[in-house]
Amino acid sequence: MQTRLADFIRDTPEGREAESILRKCVHCGFCTATCPSYQVLGDDLDSPRGRIYLVKRALEGAAVTEKTRLHLDRCLTCRACETTCPSGVRYGRLVDIGRAYVEKHTRRPLWDRLQRAALSFALPRRALFTPALRLGQLLGLAPKTRRAAPWPAARHPRKMLVLGGCVQRALAPSINAAAARVLDRIGISLLEVPGAGCCGALRFHLNYQEAGRKDMRALIDAWWPFVAGRDTEAIVASASGCGVTLKEYAHLLAPERDYHGKAERISQMTRDLCEVIRPEDLPQGERRGRVAFQSPCSLQHGQQIRGKVEAILTRLGYELAPVRDAHLCCGSAGTYSLLQPQIARELRGRKLAALQEAGPQEIVTANIGCLAHLQAASATPVRHWIELVDEALA
Ligand code: SF4
Ligand code: SF4
Repeated sequence: MQTRLADFIRDTPEGREAESILRKCVHCGFCTATCPSYQVLGDDLDSPRGRIYLVKRALEGAAVTEKTRLHLDRCLTCRACETTCPSGVRYGRLVDIGRAYVEKHTRRPLWDRLQRAALSFALPRRALFTPALRLGQLLGLAPKTRRAAPWPAARHPRKMLVLGGCVQRALAPSINAAAARVLDRIGISLLEVPGAGCCGALRFHLNYQEAGRKDMRALIDAWWPFVAGRDTEAIVASASGCGVTLKEYAHLLAPERDYHGKAERISQMTRDLCEVIRPEDLPQGERRGRVAFQSPCSLQHGQQIRGKVEAILTRLGYELAPVRDAHLCCGSAGTYSLLQPQIARELRGRKLAALQEAGPQEIVTANIGCLAHLQAASATPVRHWIELVDEALA
């Protein structure tokens, strides 16, 4: 695609990156077929091709309006379009650059600003989010916390760090505890670093990009004493939405002289939980029941990981139910389900119908956001896949 970026951005790192991405797009429209927002809304400006055009026009200096922002807001950043695109267009990076620009040059209505500011302030802070969650639970508005079974003592020479995270730590501490028990059985001690907080994804994707980077730097600082040496083999993410962000630290903090090298190391060391457990490390099991796996977008599109969770569950004897349109987003997408509730509910309805079609006893996923979003409307229990592994090995 021919582009002529405006002077204000052409010679900046973002401008150069945006230009190289835009030049790859041949406007073929293949990506529209797998775009969930386009499937629900049917407007070309709610498709990847339409949004690429909007960002191109904005960076070329055309006026940006509330309508431009609305179409960018309705994007789930699921990156299904990246998986589909035959030209290798890195849509996710382009939309981040476009959103930062559009945010600066438009003004949101007061309610929208308040809602985003409140989410950005409260969600990454455990001291605020946990009491708010407990109040929601008392009023029956929030799901119950999944209590954690004991965490094994560190006893193996092989050590890995695990991201405690923000929302997951309050909603489902059972997930990392299950991961620690499973890894302990295969000879790896999993450690959570006290004081290590949010990975930055929440605020970054709420378009508080600088606040998101601040969270990233704080997490690097908390982890650095543990990863600077050779004792820690890897950093494990049990929430794929956080994992994809950690793997992108190197890129997101590239311009920062003091953090670039450290960010690169964090990204190199990061593994999704399903990347550190090999099926052959687990005993062969038989007839454990039928489960449907919802592969989060951050796992299958963001990290391009497919088939690993399925192989682990199959090894243990679970039968994997076929899932139609498995490439489509469930509508959770970080804070999207709170900010775009109608589209999110429609996508969740479609996803649950597809997941339940083959009559699974349970639905399993790999990301706390998808888990909470799906469970809120599902009669079938929804769990993290590692909880099934832990149960099978117990
Ligand atoms: S992003 Fe890729 S698939 Fe979509 S219009 Fe551009 S080249 Fe085609
Ligand atoms: S990231 Fe997802 S919602 Fe956004 S344009 Fe791409 S496919 Fe559509």
